[in-house]
Formats: sequence, structure tokens, C-alpha cells
Amino acid sequence: MTAKTISKPTVNISAHKLLINNEWVDSQSAQTFATVNPSTEEVITEVAAAGAEDIDRAVVAARNAFESGEWPQMAASTRGQLLQKLADLIELHADELARLETLDNGKPLQESMNVDLPLAIACYRYYAGWADKIHGKTIPVEAPFFCYTRHEPMGVVGQIIPWNFPLVMQAWKLAPALATGNTVVLKPSTFTPLTALRVGELIIEAGFPPGVVNILPGYGSTAGVAIAQHRDIDKVAFTGSTEVGHQIMAAAAKSNLKRVTLELGGKSPNIVFADADMDSAIATAHLGLFLNQGQCCTAGSRLFVEASNYDEFVARSVEKAQQRVVGDPFNQQTEQGPQVSQAQFDKVMHYIETGMREGAQLMCGGNRVGDRGYFIEPTVFANVQDQMTIAQHEIFGPVMSILPFKDIDEVVQRANATEYGLAAAVWTQDIAKAHAIAHRLRAGTVWVNCYDVFNSAAPFGGFKQSGIGRELGEYGLQQYTEVKTVMVKL
Ligand code: NAP
Ligand code: MG
Repeated sequence: MTAKTISKPTVNISAHKLLINNEWVDSQSAQTFATVNPSTEEVITEVAAAGAEDIDRAVVAARNAFESGEWPQMAASTRGQLLQKLADLIELHADELARLETLDNGKPLQESMNVDLPLAIACYRYYAGWADKIHGKTIPVEAPFFCYTRHEPMGVVGQIIPWNFPLVMQAWKLAPALATGNTVVLKPSTFTPLTALRVGELIIEAGFPPGVVNILPGYGSTAGVAIAQHRDIDKVAFTGSTEVGHQIMAAAAKSNLKRVTLELGGKSPNIVFADADMDSAIATAHLGLFLNQGQCCTAGSRLFVEASNYDEFVARSVEKAQQRVVGDPFNQQTEQGPQVSQAQFDKVMHYIETGMREGAQLMCGGNRVGDRGYFIEPTVFANVQDQMTIAQHEIFGPVMSILPFKDIDEVVQRANATEYGLAAAVWTQDIAKAHAIAHRLRAGTVWVNCYDVFNSAAPFGGFKQSGIGRELGEYGLQQYTEVKTVMVKL
């Protein structure tokens, strides 16, 4: 780990209000909140905080845009061209957006540039291509009837996104919703509102009609709840904690049975057999946990290693963790920046203490780095037992837990013994074993001899309490359309 000196980047912040009907407005209450640079704990800027009355205004704009004006008349191919234009503009401003993301979130600039921006741009382009390829079926029914289906947009969609991948989560939400012809009210996280708002400026520049995309930063407890409860929102898409996911679903049930898709937490097993390519498994397990300061819903936070290789695997993983460069996210060499907030910092430190108290073996890390910013040492625990808190709860920080196992049936049973089911991975050179285990794991994504490989065409989402529905790929489209049956007497 290197010493930490924090640079003062120059980043222009133009958008810090609410985007409603293609206009930048203050919240009706005039309330604002501060967004903080997690590297320095300094306030970056004040941002308008949407309340329920602002969500109402945005829903009216989105409803009007859905029912009249240019949007419902627009050719599907033109919708696709608008999404392409947006992707072009994001690409043109990639450097600026990456710096803004790093400033607000704390992730290394190298990652903002090489992971977040390319993933977001690819997602807009992927769904731009779908816009004019979404269609129903003709269905053979008895004469004299002719039956066909239409895949129609759902209407006004509410979208609530988290702080760990702000630009990517915005793309995963907006791109399929717009490709299918919906209108949107999107709430970014109060920890990282800035890039979502900058993309709002680019949405206007691209030429989306007023009211099609509305972006309202604000607290979950006010703006988020208002979206989940709103009677004129047809669908809500949420990414965040499982706890809030339950609340969103309850609010949808109590209000208007709006459609619900949820992408929630995980406690993903990463299973390494003795016959795996060990160099690759160790390097990739390191990234699969420490990437993005450990703040990934897919983090491979239960790392199961076959007993015969356990000691060597732990020793080499500890060595890698100790070499990880923690510090100023604007420095090119930095691999790990700060946690996103004081709350996340406190939560992670609490889990580290709990791990030690419950008897897991701390092999490295465990401390704060420096005295300013929310930096935590890359931490590795060995001899972790399944029932320990750190093996059960989603930590969402740079804390690796390595658990030994003896045979296939045992490790599959233990891997599945969680309320979560977002992702999993298996490492082995035996192709039959790899597929057999991939089929037995109860998770929405299984990686074989790799980790955290995402593609806009490949669906992503959770089994069990990791969520409902899928994002990305063709499957992602189904979550934004209603099927209409038309029966015609000939
Ligand atoms: P969170 O509370 O679930 O926040 C996610 C989003 O939901 C934010 O925009 C948040 O707004 C909003 N929200 C909060 N309460 C809401 C409510 N009652 N109704 C509607 N929207 C609401 O997550 P967090 O507190 O930031 O992080 C806590 C834990 O969630 C993490 O430690 C991690 O375990 C998990 N998490 C998972 C993911 C993922 O990718 N699946 C992402 C982030 C966090 P605010 O602006 O007020 O926060
Ligand atoms: Mg911030």
C-alpha cells in the first residue's frame, strides 16, 4: 500500500438541479443535499433534493410524454437513433464523465475510464439496436379468427439506482426502457448524483422530447418512497439492498400493483478446485472481491478453496492483497480508492471487528488507511466458518473470506446455503465437473474459470432474495413491455 496524497482534480459541475420535462428546476421545497468527495470528506456541491411533490410533477410530465407529443408517434428506428446519439455524446465526454464519477464515488479513474464508461456506452448501443426489432407473433387459432400479439411499452417507469456503478446502473435502466418506448422518472443515489445529472444534459442535447427522461436526485425515504408508492407509475425497477427491495415490493402491492423488477444483494460463492489453473484463479478471485473497493453486488465474498490447495491459496491471496495500491483515485497507479461514504466505511469496519470477535483468522488488513477519506486496507480472513456473520452478510467492502472444502457435494450444498442467489463461479480444468456444478448452483449467473464478465447481451439478475427479473440482453426487454393480444374476426 502506498502513502496517500489526494489531488484536487478540476471537474466542472454544471447540472445540480432536477431534470423535469427537459428543464432544470429547483425542488418545490427548495431543499438541497450535499454530495461528498469520499477521498477527502469535503462537500463537492449542493444538489436539489426531490420530494414527493417533485416526483408528482415528473410523473405528470412523463405521462404526458407517453400519451401525446412526439414520443408515441416516433418510429422505433428513430428511438434507436436517439439512443445511439446519446451513446456518441457519452463517448465524446467520456473523459469528463469518468473524472466526475471518480470525484463523486471514489473509484479509481483507471476503472471509471476502462470499466464504467465502456460498459455504459455499450449498453446504450446494444439497446439502440433493439429498438426496431421488438415485435409480437401471429398465432394460429381456429377460423374465422386471426390472432396476433403486440409488445407495447408499459408506460411511465420509475427507476431507483445505487451508488456503486452510477453510470452503468443508469444505462442498464434507461436503455431498455427507452428502446421499448416507455417514459422514465429516475432517482440516482444521494451519494453519487452528479454523473446521472450530466447524462441528463446529454439526453437533452441528443434530442429526446420533453418528459421522456426525468432525473430527480433525492433521498430514498422521500423521493424513492414516492416513486414506489405512486399510483400513476406503471413499473418500478430498483437496484440496491435486499431490505429496501422488500419495501419497494410492499409499496407496489399496496398502491397499484405496478410491475416490479429488483436487482439486490448477493453473497456469491467462488469455488476453486485443486485442478484449476491456480495463477488465474488467485488473480481473478482477488479482482472478483476487491474490484470497486469490494462494493459489487456480485463480489465473490465466499471463496471456497479445495483443502489440498488451501494453505497455498491463502498465502498467495494475502500477498496479492498486501500489494494492492490504495490511495488517491486520480493517481494512475491506484487500484483501490475510498469506500463511498462514512456509513459504508463504518459498516465495513464493524464487519471486520465482528469477524475477529467470532474467531476468523485475520491474515492481513483490517485497518483504516490514513486519517482523511474512507480508505480501508484490503483485508483477508482465513478459516472462516459458514455460520460466521462475515460468511452470511453482504459486507460490500474490501474483505475477503476464504473457506476450505473437501468434496463436490459438500461445497455445492454449502454454496447454496444462503438466502441470496445472484452469482457464483467455479474453477476447474475438468469441463464435465464445471458444467455439472454450474447446473447445480442456485444463482442467476455462473462464471466458469472467470469472474465478473459482463456483456450487454447476457442477462443478469438474481435467484431467491437477490432479486426478481433480469436486466440486459433480450430478456431485459420483456421487463419493459406488456403483451397485448389482438383477436380479429375475419
Ligand atoms: P439502498 O438503501 O438499498 O439504496 C439504493 C437506492 O435506493 C438509493 O438510491 C437509495 O436512496 C434508495 N432507497 C433507499 N431507501 C429507499 C426506500 N425506502 N424506498 C425507495 N428507495 C429507497 O442501499 P444503501 O443503503 O446505499 O447500501 C446498503 C447496502 O445495500 C450495501 O451495503 C449493499 O449491501 C447493498 N447494495 C447493493 C447494491 C447492488 O448493486 N445490488 C448497490 C448498492 C448497495 P438514497 O439516495 O437515500 O440512498
Ligand atoms: Mg459523493
